[in-house]
Amino acid sequence: MPHKLTDSLSALSLAAAQSLMQTASLSNLENWRIHYLGRKGEIPRLLREVKNLPPADRQIIGQQGNQLRHDLTAAYEKKLLSFSGQLASAPASRPAQSPVEVRPGHLHPLTLAGRDLQTIFYQLGFQLVEGPLVEETKYNFDLLNIPLEHPARAETDTFHLPDGLVLRTHTSPVQLRSVLANGLVPPFQVYSIGRTFRAERTDASHDHTFSQIEALMVGDAISIADFKGVVEYVYSNFFRQSVATRLRPSYFPFVEPGFEVDMSCVICQQKGCRVCQQTGWLEMMGAGMVHPNVLRNMNIDHHKYQGFAFGGGIERLAMLRHSIPDVRLFQSGDLKFLRQFS
Ligand SMILES: [Zn+2]
Repeated sequence: MPHKLTDSLSALSLAAAQSLMQTASLSNLENWRIHYLGRKGEIPRLLREVKNLPPADRQIIGQQGNQLRHDLTAAYEKKLLSFSGQLASAPASRPAQSPVEVRPGHLHPLTLAGRDLQTIFYQLGFQLVEGPLVEETKYNFDLLNIPLEHPARAETDTFHLPDGLVLRTHTSPVQLRSVLANGLVPPFQVYSIGRTFRAERTDASHDHTFSQIEALMVGDAISIADFKGVVEYVYSNFFRQSVATRLRPSYFPFVEPGFEVDMSCVICQQKGCRVCQQTGWLEMMGAGMVHPNVLRNMNIDHHKYQGFAFGGGIERLAMLRHSIPDVRLFQSGDLKFLRQFS
């Protein structure tokens, strides 16, 4: 019956159009093509039945069938083109996502410098001692022979806390504490490393928070020559080049005699440069032979024993090593600066 085949064609046309509309990917579209238009698909199968129809109906139904095949093929090609269009326009319509940058963590330049120093002091046989950042004035000043009238005691230099406590202004109290707490008797050699605080206006070479390394060596025949030997070993190993030191007389309440330590310029090897202001020398730190009053405060017989002490900023060492122009960069949290040390 011809009308039955016409109904089939209509039903097939509707189903194919709906199915095509729901096609959302190239592979779905290909499956659709095979199902309806493929050699063994629905449309060819229907068209094959046309030849069994009576000749009067054959032409009309045949035309309808061919028209349907033609329409579905056109719809298929249009859909295919829309997928191709999507593919071609994808980069333009959707912003390209940059790949996620993975940056492994790394140590802060001050930590790196501190670790190197710890290795060097370990090689020299120094024992690491530690102390609190919040310190009693007794340890920070009194027992270090820093009298009340000393400028370092003035309000402007020290962060004062309630109950007579201060943020330690140097690492010297650590030695004092550890000698007393551990009952150390000479000969001994200890060092400490850590943060210190000064209520100072900051600039390119001063910060309110900085790091010090401090050493104390006491024995019955310790001299300034021992001091020079230790300091030159430390600097030479830290900067990985042979350096010389010179001492200039200076005053610090906890040492006698006291001196400023200059190091031969590690930038120009004493040829003269901007960093050493053409002098060939760099000012590094204060040091001296431990004052008899301080030895006494550590319960050490100052008639029998002597010792040296020195303390210097780790920032200064790291700045020279890496040619860092501003001390404030260390605590700036500036990732551009910090990532140079990864
Ligand atoms: Zn220089």
